[in-house]
Amino acid sequence: MKALTFHGKEQILYEDIPSPLIESAGDVIVEVKACAICGSDLHPYFEREKGLDHGCAMGHEFVGTVVELGAEVRTLKKGDRVMSPFTVSCGQCYYCQNGLTSRCEHSQLFGWRQKGKGLHGGQAQWVRVPLADASLMKMPEEMPDEMGILLGDILSTGYYGVAKGGLEPGQTPAVIGCGPVGMMAIWSAFQLGAKQVFAIDAIPERLRMAEQWGATALNFKTTDVAAVIREATQGRGVDLAVEAVGSGAATRSAFSLLRPGGHLSAVGVCTDQDLSFGPVGAYDKNLTYSIGRCPARYYMPRLIEAALADADRLTSIFTHRFPLAAGARAYRIFADKKDQCMKVLLRT
Ligand code: NAD
Ligand code: ZN
Ligand code: ZN
Repeated sequence: MKALTFHGKEQILYEDIPSPLIESAGDVIVEVKACAICGSDLHPYFEREKGLDHGCAMGHEFVGTVVELGAEVRTLKKGDRVMSPFTVSCGQCYYCQNGLTSRCEHSQLFGWRQKGKGLHGGQAQWVRVPLADASLMKMPEEMPDEMGILLGDILSTGYYGVAKGGLEPGQTPAVIGCGPVGMMAIWSAFQLGAKQVFAIDAIPERLRMAEQWGATALNFKTTDVAAVIREATQGRGVDLAVEAVGSGAATRSAFSLLRPGGHLSAVGVCTDQDLSFGPVGAYDKNLTYSIGRCPARYYMPRLIEAALADADRLTSIFTHRFPLAAGARAYRIFADKKDQCMKVLLRT
């Protein structure tokens, strides 16, 4: 089959690799109809995350059709149209039972194979999905492919960042980073009753989109963000800062914009060795800090209704569409944020 495979820093190939086979009785093979490139794919792409096997199929955001089933799969059948969270989970362990499917004892991340072990990704014609009964969800007929992809990762992640941050109706959060994840966090903040949402980035078209989605957009390169936020919050700072970048600088800025007693909720994947704020500063702010991989499978069913009610807005995040065969070029455009690119959809 054809897949987009990793071959070192900034090297993505569209090439033939063996098609996946059923390996365990709980596996399903999905024929991928559409998939997307995520900011998280850029960490191995730029080798900020190291260790990914050369030849591994990339990607963890996909939807498709069930074409083969292991002997023990109970809830799915051939022809089902399905969406998938970006990690698989068993549905039965302590973590799955307690809403933390991303830390399932049997969790695996799509598109991550190291030393010959792990799961190939969904930027391919077919993908093997272990623990399929608990991981996959059938898509309602009226749900566009794009929405299935968003629910499987970034919409759930943006929502998780805000919900985990304990946002209460009437509060004022800031979202640091207006990439696809940040945009989903902005949407989620309004869903959860935010009064005003500050959106911080330096890319004009992204700030423009944040503004169109109702946020107060601030360009950190041209604006004194801290001063604007102080002014708007009687000098206190925001109640919640969602870090949706994955860098020390963004973490630092999230920290500095918070009021005492505020919550820094980081969903960005930061590959630095240390945090960019210290224990003394955190103590002096009575900070609550949370970080981690989104339990997308937990949020997917809970978000379907609200997401479908605002489907046009949410799916407008896909600014670029390419065939899978043009994937290498799509990666370059997405990675360099060229051509006003926000999010890329690939069709097999
Ligand atoms: P992206 O790279 O498209 O967007 C990041 C945005 O942050 C860009 O618009 C950039 O201009 C902006 N930015 C950079 N530095 C900034 C700063 N100092 N202040 C404000 N804005 C700044 O990526 P994305 O797809 O939106 O993903 C964002 C992060 O979320 C990535 O680190 C990704 O790995 C992570 N992620 C985490 C999870 C999870 O489960 N926690 C899931 C999906 C993605
Ligand atoms: Zn992702
Ligand atoms: Zn589990």
